[in-house]
Amino acid sequence: MGRDFVYVILGGGVAAGYAALEFTKKGVARGELCVVSDEPVAPYERPALSKGFLLPEGPARLPGFHTCVGANEEKLTPNWYKEHGIELMLGTRVISADTRRKTLLTATGETITYKYLIIATGAQALKLEEIGINGSKAENVCYLRDLADATKLVNMMRMCTGVNAIVVGGGYIGMECAASLVMNKINVTIVFPGSYCMGRLFSSKIARYYEDFYESKGVNFIKGTSLSSFVFNSEGKVTGANLKDGRYLHADMVVVGIGARPNTSLFEGQLTFENKGIKVNSRLQTSNTSVYAVGDVASFPVKLFGDTRRLEHVDAARKTAKHAVHAIMEPKTVSDIDYLPFFYSRVFSLSWQFYGDNVGEVVHFGDFSGTKFGAYWVNNKRLVGCFLEGGGNDEYVAIANAIRLKPVVLDLGELERAGLDFVMAVTRNPPVSPTGYGVVLKKPVNVWYAAYGIGVAASVAAFAYWYAKYVVNRI
Ligand SMILES: Cc1cc2nc3c(=O)[nH]c(=O)nc-3n(C[C@H](O)[C@H](O)[C@H](O)COP(=O)(O)OP(=O)(O)OC[C@H]3O[C@@H](n4cnc5c(N)ncnc54)[C@H](O)[C@@H]3O)c2cc1C
Repeated sequence: MGRDFVYVILGGGVAAGYAALEFTKKGVARGELCVVSDEPVAPYERPALSKGFLLPEGPARLPGFHTCVGANEEKLTPNWYKEHGIELMLGTRVISADTRRKTLLTATGETITYKYLIIATGAQALKLEEIGINGSKAENVCYLRDLADATKLVNMMRMCTGVNAIVVGGGYIGMECAASLVMNKINVTIVFPGSYCMGRLFSSKIARYYEDFYESKGVNFIKGTSLSSFVFNSEGKVTGANLKDGRYLHADMVVVGIGARPNTSLFEGQLTFENKGIKVNSRLQTSNTSVYAVGDVASFPVKLFGDTRRLEHVDAARKTAKHAVHAIMEPKTVSDIDYLPFFYSRVFSLSWQFYGDNVGEVVHFGDFSGTKFGAYWVNNKRLVGCFLEGGGNDEYVAIANAIRLKPVVLDLGELERAGLDFVMAVTRNPPVSPTGYGVVLKKPVNVWYAAYGIGVAASVAAFAYWYAKYVVNRI
């Protein structure tokens, strides 16, 4: 049994939905495009699963968060695919791929042939067994990657009001789930081996703010240690956890968020890999010219930082998906992808955004005892990253603009004092760029430093003036 398509999207998540919409914008003909997903529902905005979906009151439910509502685009319900003549093969797991023959084989024995393939298979949650702990299958142990996981977690929270949960992991999923558990009136202890939460992104000072906030909501943090084993009752339910530091924690339920692994196994030995993902060029094309990879699986060039990255974030999934479709449908007009890394999260009443790269020296700014604060990262005298909690839309836009320009920063103290005014000044006086990005001083940094030094930026106004007048673009 075989089906033949011009374009096949393998995967039914964020990137798949955004790619499908882009295909229709680029004029795909009826019957040419197929989306193959092992999930039972049409592509949806995955971040909703750890936010709106877990709310105790008025939770988000499908069809409310099908793609592409997250970017204020159309909501692609199953009917939308039908209306556009797109074959939506749901509940269909692809078990092998042959990129030479351009075929996929499904678990039911069906063969799907393509002219162009977009791999959008995302990632899967790492299981406890992979770090030597048994218990993933227990009915009160939850993960959070897909709708089935989220539904299990919601049901568990409903049964567990007023009892104790352990959250394993202090990253994105752990922190967002801990907030949801609290909102569902469950006592939470978070356990993780690092010295502070969100260690891959936050500075210790930023982390302390969030940990304090969580503690004010009753969350208990156990840091610097990890799970060594679960204790089960006679029905196989987890009743507690032994920690490596010798402590024992009682648990009525457990949520595990210890990371994710990209779903690339179908293509091992067939495509080139990098950063544990499928290596693509600036058009999202893999080492096989008929095959593109997008979203969590794609290791793509980030021009701004001159390297190749695999980003497990929704914005990258949306933008790489759109870019790949553009490259396939209009190869003559497509430019190289020029992506600014962007991450965000919302928990309780808090909301932050991050743009760029968190390398180099950290400069904090704002009021850490209030509701609006942030941090800059300066690497090799250039502003490369910015985090902001509690900002307004114009401020986030200004941050994104400024990071794209990578302005030179001579004086970290002045940057700290200027705080957000720095990026606002950059936005108000954007330098004209002949090549699209990058900002350097006309004169070498040391000349500027000697000539103007700290005094140049003695006030925000003077700083803005200095920036507008002397900074030019390059690279
Ligand atoms: C709970 C949660 C909250 C998140 N919150 C945020 C956030 O706040 N901010 C942020 O920036 N990012 C967030 N992310 C990350 C973001 O959702 C992902 O980066 C994004 O979903 C990646 O899109 P994707 O299409 O590459 O993969 P996915 O959305 O994971 O989609 C992959 C799809 O491929 C399917 N698939 C895989 N293998 C096969 C196969 N062999 N056959 C058929 N189908 C297959 C999967 O079932 C799935 O439908 C969150 C992720 C999760 C899990």
